[in-house]
Amino acid sequence: MTTTPGLPPGLLLLERGWLSANNILLIGPDDTAMVDSGYCTHAPQTLALVEAALEGRPLDQLLNTHLHSDHCGGNAALQQRFPNLRTRIPPGEALSVAHWDEEALSFRPTGQQCPRFNFQGLLESGTTLRLAGRAWEVHSAPGHDPHSIILFEPVSRTLLSADALWEKGFGVVFPELIGEASFECVAATLDLIERLSPSTVIPGHGRAFTDVVEALRFARGRLAGQVADPSRHARHALKVLIKFKLMEVQSISRTEWTQWIHETSYFELIRARFFDHEALEEISEDLLAALVLSRAAAMVGDRIENR
Ligand SMILES: [Zn+2]
Repeated sequence: MTTTPGLPPGLLLLERGWLSANNILLIGPDDTAMVDSGYCTHAPQTLALVEAALEGRPLDQLLNTHLHSDHCGGNAALQQRFPNLRTRIPPGEALSVAHWDEEALSFRPTGQQCPRFNFQGLLESGTTLRLAGRAWEVHSAPGHDPHSIILFEPVSRTLLSADALWEKGFGVVFPELIGEASFECVAATLDLIERLSPSTVIPGHGRAFTDVVEALRFARGRLAGQVADPSRHARHALKVLIKFKLMEVQSISRTEWTQWIHETSYFELIRARFFDHEALEEISEDLLAALVLSRAAAMVGDRIENR
């Protein structure tokens, strides 16, 4: 975890990693807010970081850019710790959260976890929210996730880009994997970011960056590659899901691993759509072998371990 100097006063970036998305704290004289809450297994660390940063003050608002488990997995713990916390989510997810539909919320099909949380408000695109003394614009940013929003503060020209734009690329285009054409949404969201013309981008993962022109150029190049070869994107997505699981569990037996692969419906959905000539076991073994080769995983006896 590091904090980044050079950001607007009162804005604190808690750079987390890949299992937990970054947490962005907005600390003003009158109120405090946080954007995204990390993965659930990191919740104790998230609470400790937030409490240290707030120095005894309560957290007033929690905003989720989108509801992937690495962005909202700490919501429940924060809601418990701060009873007056007001949580806002993207409107497209409101019903799924209200009914806690783990299928629609992607937690079950991706084989990930997220403790149940509630919400008190929505993040409507086109509105402006006053947080810690600054006015933040809410923009819808579909592509990586159809309901994702990004937040832009026009005075300092700071963009919280979630997984719509990283310094090197963007998040897996999940809707594409289940047959919902979304590469065009990714392109439109990149165009939106270009029009906003931020001077600093704080992504959902990785450090903050200022060379937005280069980041957009890189992202568009990656997108062109994915559009040209969607099955490569699909394979990459499976690898990301596998690595995410390994980061979560750190160590898992072969038996539990096979069980997880079969319970995680995205694997079969993606196989059937993109690799129907291959067996699920074959694909998952291939990807695991690739991770071992790149030293991102290791086989230790009967167990698979994260590296
Ligand atoms: Zn995401």
